[in-house]
Amino acid sequence: MGRSSHAARGGSDTGCMSPSTASPSPAHLPTCPCGSGAPEDSCCQPVLMGAAAVTAEALMRSRFTAFARGHVEHLLRSWHSATRPARNELAGSLDPDRRWTRLVIHETEGGGAADSEGIVEFTAIAREADGSKVRLRERSRFVREGGRWVYVDGDVQA
Ligand SMILES: [Zn+2]
Repeated sequence: MGRSSHAARGGSDTGCMSPSTASPSPAHLPTCPCGSGAPEDSCCQPVLMGAAAVTAEALMRSRFTAFARGHVEHLLRSWHSATRPARNELAGSLDPDRRWTRLVIHETEGGGAADSEGIVEFTAIAREADGSKVRLRERSRFVREGGRWVYVDGDVQA
């Protein structure tokens, strides 16, 4: 929406009076916590709201965002039924003083729209209440359960 600087009354000619100088403004949408660079509402937000993640990496990103947001529902829903923790256990393990700040995806194997299994290796970086940094590098396994990508488990990398 541009602002109309010329209050052209009578509205006769519309031909040359509309120079669309409106620059495609990079609206002040917050970028997604997962580090994709995309606005959250077109990145992880739909997945957090229940949309299916297209790839294992997209699910991984949404889970990082869920950790950053303390979104327990999404973490449970995106966990394989065989390895999913109890709600209380999960909620109790989320440290509110630990702020997840950054996610780096190192490698993915499979996990695509046509795959049924996938691996995502990533480093998740957090900051503790005292300001110290925490880095967690994990190689996570994902499979489809009921057609949707879910997290199975992961090996923490040294
Ligand atoms: Zn995201």
